[in-house]
Formats: sequence, structure tokens, C-alpha cells
Amino acid sequence: MNMKERLLKALKGEEVDKVPVCTVTQSAIVELMDQTGAAWPEAHSDAQKMADLAIASYEVCGLEGVRAPYCLTVLAEAMGCEVNMGTKNRQPSVTDHPYPKGVDNLAMPENLLTVGRIPVVMEAMKLIRDKVGDEVPIIAGMEGPVTLASDLASVKKFMKWSIKKPEDFQTILDFACDACIEYANALFDAGVDVISVPDPVSSPDLMAPDTFDKMLKPCLQKFADGVKGPMILHVCGDVTPILEMMADCHFESISIEEKVKDLKGAKAKVGDKVTICGNVSSPFVLLAGDEAAVKAAATKALEDGIDVLAPGCGIAPDTPVANLKAMVEARDEYYA
Ligand SMILES: [Zn+2]
Repeated sequence: MNMKERLLKALKGEEVDKVPVCTVTQSAIVELMDQTGAAWPEAHSDAQKMADLAIASYEVCGLEGVRAPYCLTVLAEAMGCEVNMGTKNRQPSVTDHPYPKGVDNLAMPENLLTVGRIPVVMEAMKLIRDKVGDEVPIIAGMEGPVTLASDLASVKKFMKWSIKKPEDFQTILDFACDACIEYANALFDAGVDVISVPDPVSSPDLMAPDTFDKMLKPCLQKFADGVKGPMILHVCGDVTPILEMMADCHFESISIEEKVKDLKGAKAKVGDKVTICGNVSSPFVLLAGDEAAVKAAATKALEDGIDVLAPGCGIAPDTPVANLKAMVEARDEYYA
């Protein structure tokens, strides 16, 4: 069983020889930027640098997959958001929004796939494939439709519309969903094996579980149904109140943080519907902990039945290489 077969089977809940270990959320770190010469912010806009930095996590840390890009702004930018490209250890962020006033003038860019950094991402996926061959999975990351819609409107307006203007809220969700479907299918055409979709604005920290159930879940279902390959839904925070709804979004798998305290309970609750990726704490263990702490958290996740061992959320760029290596070693030792 090669790495790609193992990951694809594990995501579907099929039997594997060992649980795969990789990152499904942001994975670039400064140590590897220094080693490769491919650093942020350039690696967000330069296909070769984007590819080199992603491949380093696989080659140097031993992670069983290559993941790129490193932000949740590629599609948002192509759709008209202004983006600050950040620094060597700070991710790009959306700084201005095209539709804060309402949904009357929503306009899909003509030839969306040629706009902004989208061609760069597509090129990077091809460069990665040429370098790593067919047996290593490529995981593309992209913002989910809820987060994209909130970027288009601004989070403040988006949340306000969810309560006071449900029709506008639905309209901008549909608009974002259409763009996500087109972009995701193009990523599969470019050769990626899996798409990981962080949708942080769906978190119970921001949106009520009832809104998730009635409005966000149908949007995420429509997105998943419109895309031709396997996808992972990542929602930040303690998603315990929406676990069953997430499992019902038609994604192959869900990615959760350590803030979901009871992984075993989560598996028992949704394990027959969806697989689970995670949940080694990115800030408290991978960034702030030592190798022993990483191994302890990784072993606990394996014991509790995680399907794909991975950081719980995007890792901080200052995370040490040694800690990512320790996560891989923990998995190897678990099966030794
Ligand atoms: Zn997260």
C-alpha cells in the first residue's frame, strides 16, 4: 500500500495497514523556509516556491502527503477581496471586502480560474506532482464557502445578515458556493488527490449551531455534492455541538482540533458517517511542547481511534521541524 492509497482509503474509512500521518491544515514552517529558500510571503505567489516549501514537509519531516497553498485567501482575492500578504511568519489575510453594502451587484469574475493567484496554485500542483510522483498524495487547501462568503461581505455584515437579512445571507452563500465548486473541480483537474477545506467562520465560536444546521450545512452539502473528488471539512474551535451536522455535510472526512475534548466520544457519535482527522494541538503541543509531549498527544489520538493523524489546526510557522518529525515517529512507534 503506497502513501496515496493509504490516505485515500483511510479517509473513506477503509482498512489500512497503519493510520496515515500528514497535515490537512496549513503546514509551512519557517525552519523549512530557511532550508529551501522558499519563504513567505513570496511562496504564496510563486509556483516554484509554493511547491518547494510544500515538498519539504514531506521530504524533511516525513509527513505522508504534500499540502499547499498556505492561506485561505486565494479564492477570496480572485473574487475581489483585498489581501495583505503577511510576512515570513504571518499568514495572508483579507483586509477589504467587495460586497459590504449588499448582494445586489454580485458579479462572478469572467474566467475565474485565470484570475489572481489561481493559476499559480494550479501550476504549483503540477510541479509538486512532477517532483513527488504518483504515489504521494497531494492535498490542496482552500477556504470553504462560508468563510469565502464572509470575506466577500465582511464578517460583521455576514453575521448581521444571518439574523436580519436571511435572503441576502442565502444569496451570498450560494454565490460563494458556486465559486468554490468551480475552483475545487479545477484543483482536481490539476492533479490533486484530496482537498482540505478549512471553514473557520462556520465555527460555533462565530455562528450558532442552529444557523449551521439550517443554513450552513445545506451550503456545505451543495459544495461537496458539486465537487468530483474527496474532501475534508475543517472547522476550528470546540465543534462538539455541531459534530453530527458536520458529519452530515457529505464530505469524506472531518478535521477537528483538540478543543473537542472527547475524541473517542466523537468517533462513537459520527464514526459510522465520516472519518476524523486530527487532533494534535497545533498551539499547545506542536508549537509550545517538546517531542515527548507531541508523542504523547499523537499516541492518545491513535488510541482514541483517529483515522488520519494530523495537527488539529493550521500549524504556527514557528513550529519546530523536530516536533513534526516526532508526530511521524509516534505513529511509527505505535505500530512497531
Ligand atoms: Zn482550525
